[in-house]
Amino acid sequence: MPTKAYAAESATSPLAPFPIERRAPRPSDVAIDILFCGVCHSDLHQARNDWKGSTYPIVPGHEIVGRVTAVGASVTKFKAGDLAAVGCMVDSCRTCASCARGLEQYCEKTCTQTYNSPDPHPGVTGGMTYGGYSERVVVDEAFTLRLSDKIDLASAAPLVCAGITTYSPLRHWKVGPGSKVGVVGLGGLGHMAVKFAHAFGAHVTLFTTTAGKADDGKRLGADAVIVSKDPAAMARCAASLDFVLDTVSADHDINAYLALLKLDGTLVLVGAPENPLPVAAFSLFTGRRSFAGSGIGGVAETQEMLDFCAEKGIACDIELIRIDQINEAYERLLKNDVRYRFVIDMASLKS
Ligand code: NAP
Ligand code: ZN
Ligand code: ZN
Repeated sequence: MPTKAYAAESATSPLAPFPIERRAPRPSDVAIDILFCGVCHSDLHQARNDWKGSTYPIVPGHEIVGRVTAVGASVTKFKAGDLAAVGCMVDSCRTCASCARGLEQYCEKTCTQTYNSPDPHPGVTGGMTYGGYSERVVVDEAFTLRLSDKIDLASAAPLVCAGITTYSPLRHWKVGPGSKVGVVGLGGLGHMAVKFAHAFGAHVTLFTTTAGKADDGKRLGADAVIVSKDPAAMARCAASLDFVLDTVSADHDINAYLALLKLDGTLVLVGAPENPLPVAAFSLFTGRRSFAGSGIGGVAETQEMLDFCAEKGIACDIELIRIDQINEAYERLLKNDVRYRFVIDMASLKS
């Protein structure tokens, strides 16, 4: 199926129209007409080859919501006309120990990412998967998520990356009533971390470099906001938190945030800066602290998160853009100037 899309053809070229082909649905596939696609900072990192693993042309986009247009003969979860969502993965080995535990994102063999992964069904796409900055996508139903019509569709799109990437570690490390939690960075991931930690009953402190985001931080659910550029304010928070979720996309001093943890506290990194972050040994010895990481979430947990959001009325705060504003949106992301997720209205690609 010929499909309109936007691609970057090299690390230095802007995103521009690029026609692709989607496969015809196989028996277990769902064909989805994409209505909205969120803009994750990972899209920017990969379009510009920050992580050194990009294959060009690259069609980013892994926060996809849309309407099912056709299903293969063996599909049971979806029918034409249903709403559906697709996040960061479109396949995995399905048999290894991680997959058996519903942790497909940690598949021991191959977790096929929604874009920039070798396509297990090559032949039409040129060998790599292509993401959601496109008119339609064809995905195995096992990696397709159900979406309630109770949430605004555009505001729901970023849940399948920004949402699950923050929900999963908060759940894994059992954040709840009584937990003292810090969230570092108020961007796409950070604003969802604040909402979820608040919804789980934790006391939430937001650490931001942007003083102008303080009021929004409180509106989104933070009990306290600290401007991290203020050393005296940071010093007052030393050794006070059980758990810190770091969503920062760029170079920063991780030791300044490890210092916020009290005895046996854990800092989980979900931000993926281009460069390594040096950790001072004494940042960890002091208070027997842990420094951990977390990647997105499995299919079942992503569905659980979407259902939780529908039940609690939680969605993302978004700025809707046209596809031809994507390059400008990337520049604004680099300036921490997004409130708090860009979402592309895919009607702008079709017109
Ligand atoms: P984003 O919307 O651009 O937000 C990042 C925020 O980090 C900014 O808004 C800013 O918040 C803060 N920040 C930026 N530069 C900083 C600096 N030098 N020092 C301190 N704070 C800084 O990005 P996003 O889409 O939320 O993604 C965040 C990161 O997570 C990216 O690296 C992305 O690739 C990664 N990611 C990882 C996973 C995973 O599975 N682990 C999944 C999705 C995304 P303030 O203005 O509040 O300071
Ligand atoms: Zn993402
Ligand atoms: Zn596996």
